[in-house]
Amino acid sequence: MSMLSTGRPTRPEQVITRPATLTGAEGLLQHEPLIFELGGWDKTGVDLPPVPADFAEDDLGDLLRVEPIGLPGLSEPETVRHYVRLSQQNHAIDLALYPLGSCTMKHNPRLNEKMARLPGFADIHPLQPVSTVQGALQLIDELAHWLKTLTGLPAVAMTPKAGAHGELCGILAITAAHRAKGDTARDTVLVPTSAHGTNPATAAFVGYKVQEIAQTADGRVDLADLEAKLGPHVAAIMVTNPNTCGLFEREVREIARLTHAAGAFFYCDGANFNAIVGRVRPGDLGVDAMHINLHKTFSTPHGGGGPGAGPVVLSAALAPFAPVPYVTHGPDGFDLCEADAQAFGRMCAFNGQMGMFVRAYAYMLSHGADGLRQAAEDAVLNANYIKARLSKVMSPAFPDGPCMHEALFDDHWLEDTGVTTLDFAKAMIDEGFHPMTMYFPLVVHGAMLIEPTETESKAELDRFCDMVEALAGAVRAGDVDRFKGAPFHAPRRRLDETQAARKPRLKWTEPAPQAIAAE
Ligand SMILES: *Cc1c(COP(=O)(O)O)cnc(C)c1O
Repeated sequence: MSMLSTGRPTRPEQVITRPATLTGAEGLLQHEPLIFELGGWDKTGVDLPPVPADFAEDDLGDLLRVEPIGLPGLSEPETVRHYVRLSQQNHAIDLALYPLGSCTMKHNPRLNEKMARLPGFADIHPLQPVSTVQGALQLIDELAHWLKTLTGLPAVAMTPKAGAHGELCGILAITAAHRAKGDTARDTVLVPTSAHGTNPATAAFVGYKVQEIAQTADGRVDLADLEAKLGPHVAAIMVTNPNTCGLFEREVREIARLTHAAGAFFYCDGANFNAIVGRVRPGDLGVDAMHINLHKTFSTPHGGGGPGAGPVVLSAALAPFAPVPYVTHGPDGFDLCEADAQAFGRMCAFNGQMGMFVRAYAYMLSHGADGLRQAAEDAVLNANYIKARLSKVMSPAFPDGPCMHEALFDDHWLEDTGVTTLDFAKAMIDEGFHPMTMYFPLVVHGAMLIEPTETESKAELDRFCDMVEALAGAVRAGDVDRFKGAPFHAPRRRLDETQAARKPRLKWTEPAPQAIAAE
């Protein structure tokens, strides 16, 4: 064994085969049962006062619980350890770059979390008198102001609770605007082939027929096809810009002109707004409605289906139909408008996602105008760095010209290697990285969509690219087994994703007594 200059032994040079552990644990990674399997039925983590002597069961009527409550009774350390061990079994943005394209998994400053927990925001109730929540209403109003300023549109509906919910809000506003003009013949929404699934789903949910717009060879909306499909039956187009191929729609103003000439509205899916904040105002491009995924562009961790917020900015033509409630400002301070004859209705019971509004507002104020713009520019720069480095080993879907905030590759380079996009992604898990978005957008064969976001340093980008290059080298060397069986080092191997999606088991049921006896 050799020594360092400080006398510490260096790693043994000889590679030793790893013996299987006796418990199945892998170092710090231990098998973790469900919290219900941990049980602790006979104890509790809290001390409850004894039932008062004068308590009469009759006071509760038939609400008296007669069966055990059915919750595990773990102590505080047991509970904490359970969740910490679980958290170590999954990937997290705090562990490494999280390259999911279209999802924008960026580091979200802890400052915003701190602000969202301020009791004046976190502990208020939506039914409190407005005189007691003036600060919260002011924050919603000021956030609305900056969203309108950044998008160049005159109105914003703050209440939608996710991007998809915002799409629904926008399409309902568009429907209301057509109806108000007595124009009830429009039954179709046009959507490009590369659109996110929520776009056609939203249109269909509202009752529209969905027609696809073709894409050009360079990954953009085919103007001739759009023009041919527009007509008096079209209520709206739904176009993402920058689009889901990570490309800016260069002809976006012409798209808007053609749409408006046909009497339809231009709904823009703003999920990729993080690529253009401070550089482009969608209002200047002719957009009539656009949702902003606050959780993608303006902070808030959103892995695992966490909270979202999808405020929708609206043009002057759509503004009158915005849903209630909305914040107003008069001589007596801030108020909530709960009834408005022209509003198409209401998206949710109260005022939207307050915690996310606070995070987005804190994010905006801490960055400032120059910082927000730089975040967009750095997101684009980082994606182009990845595109430039990885184009040497993978096949870019649209090689010509720069991309926006995400780099899209196809599986052309994997042809005849025996390795698929899915296999490659699973091998990335073994290397300690979360896979990129796979098989989306559907227009690109075996798509791999990589979005590094502005929060990654060059060193981190290089670490990621080194890993992809090393795996690509293994593909070229014919090391197929590394991919086919991957992941080998994760707590779970390949799962039956269809079964998991179609027949999710969301409820723990106590095993039958004979099953326990047989063990
Ligand atoms: C994320 C996303 C959506 C949906 O947004 P949610 O907040 O997840 O509902 C819609 N379109 C695109 C392009 C997206 O990336």
